[in-house]
Amino acid sequence: MVRVLTALGLITLLATCGGRPERVSSAPPPAPSVEPAGRLLVAQSNIDPAALAKTLFGAKRDGSPQSPAPFGGYAKGCLAGGAQLPETGPTWQAMRLSRNRNWGHPETIAYIKRLSARAAAQPGWNGLYIGDISQPRGGPMLTGHRSHQIGLDIDIWMRPADNLGLSRTDRENISSISMRRMKGAFTNGNWTRAHHQILKAAASDPAVARIFVFPGAKVQMCNDETGDRAWLRKIRPWWGHHYHFHVRLKCPAGTSGCVNQDPPPPGDGCAGAEEWVRNILNPPPPDPNAPPPKPRREYVLADLPKQCVQVLSSR
Ligand SMILES: [Zn+2]
Repeated sequence: MVRVLTALGLITLLATCGGRPERVSSAPPPAPSVEPAGRLLVAQSNIDPAALAKTLFGAKRDGSPQSPAPFGGYAKGCLAGGAQLPETGPTWQAMRLSRNRNWGHPETIAYIKRLSARAAAQPGWNGLYIGDISQPRGGPMLTGHRSHQIGLDIDIWMRPADNLGLSRTDRENISSISMRRMKGAFTNGNWTRAHHQILKAAASDPAVARIFVFPGAKVQMCNDETGDRAWLRKIRPWWGHHYHFHVRLKCPAGTSGCVNQDPPPPGDGCAGAEEWVRNILNPPPPDPNAPPPKPRREYVLADLPKQCVQVLSSR
């Protein structure tokens, strides 16, 4: 499995995620698809069902005036009733405000508030710098990310948020810092015990489904943890994710149109992360029988759950 994934990682294009160039393949795997948009609803709304979903959703500046609800999966869906993370709070700042991606399900906003308060207790941290969540109405984006479509994915900077007085301009210009060396096989000198503690708090929250971080960080945490190890199961090694970690929340209770990803396999996942690291250090030869990669088609509106038509058109 790791070999196949590694091969895929080599053939992908560049995109941005969390303020730094990153491979598109670093987007976590797509969740299963749901019922496509109904023709009737699309016809009623006067929106062309064949229009590119990213163009439609990328043009929305505000959340939809609807009850909060994610529709579809993390990589194929939209968000009704999105809430905006305040640009600055007591223990956080939203970064890259020009992107207008500081929107999420209200439970996502609540999660950021409680995790950032925990982070602020760490030495050298006053809270968290928050990267992309979702667009105001979720959906596919014009640039970057395959996931982040239903308001339940959050990119959190690895750079310690030591100054919560950054201006808008500062937040466009400063970058996060990388935690990796040897192509992600190991952490570098920027990694601290505080990172371990913040990721542990992040993963221990029952609202969380998975957290994506580079393989060397997972192995580091596997080696350093001396207490409870249950939280390590939710820490999943993935490409990129050395300038930020990516928190994925479960579908909130009672949101029937939201599609969860299968839970991670049982166990702490440390052996799998170690194998990934070995494959980084000593890459296996490419499989001559591997099928050529399938070009990925861009979603049109009719590909998304039918409720997304209403999400787009409500005002
Ligand atoms: Zn992300």
